[in-house]
Amino acid sequence: MKIILLGPPGAGKGTQAALLMGKYSIPQISTGDMLRAAVQAQSPMGIEAKKHMDAGGLVPDSVVIGIVRERLQEDDCRGGFILDGFPRTLPQADSLKQVLVDLDQELDSVISLQVDTDALVERLTGRRTCADCGKGCHLRFDPPAQDGSCRYCGGELVQRDDDREVTIRNRMKVYQEQTAPLEDYYREQGLLVTVDGMSDISVVQQAIQAALQDC
Ligand code: ADP
Ligand code: AMP
Repeated sequence: MKIILLGPPGAGKGTQAALLMGKYSIPQISTGDMLRAAVQAQSPMGIEAKKHMDAGGLVPDSVVIGIVRERLQEDDCRGGFILDGFPRTLPQADSLKQVLVDLDQELDSVISLQVDTDALVERLTGRRTCADCGKGCHLRFDPPAQDGSCRYCGGELVQRDDDREVTIRNRMKVYQEQTAPLEDYYREQGLLVTVDGMSDISVVQQAIQAALQDC
């Protein structure tokens, strides 16, 4: 199964990608996670990317396309993958198309999660990530352990720097301007499926799985 999860920041792409990864045994390819790893490693690419990420903008296409092209060539992607947070611009989508042609692969589906803006802000401000295992949760909707630690490994939960309200507003704007046009792009190719992302995590998961059964 080769899937793209599309949707604004906070729509639930990472949450649903992790669930799909378990179900189909295919890797989740999150460009956000890959870029944050580069930031933490303080690689030249990470140092450059951090400036854009902190401001809520997009990292240049050439950088992101390069890391995805490399990642898709790895063996574990042969049986499928879930792209989470990529593509985010039309040039990224065009490049992905070419990379998949080169690899003799085709997308099965592009799932677009629909969530209204107020809910997105609430989800992002309450999002926490485990500093040890990297799993995400939400203070209200997907709560941590009773002592406030990660319920999977007991690690410390931290808030992403870009999940503060000022940056969130900019990320929403960037999404509308640069990423939302991808809905039409994939609709025209007959690949787009819109899924209501406003329900509980498990209900959204069922809706995605139902959509994928038709692929
Ligand atoms: P994205 O990867 O699209 O930015 P996440 O998957 O990280 O979004 O979800 C953002 C936050 O919202 C997380 O804290 C997550 O626990 C929470 N969340 C995800 N899906 C839902 C949902 N259906 N209902 C309520 N909260 C959700
Ligand atoms: P995410 O974890 O998907 O919310 O991404 C966090 C940040 O990483 C974004 O706000 C961007 O700055 C950067 N980023 C992630 N994916 C991409 C992408 N495909 N293109 C450009 N920038 C990206």
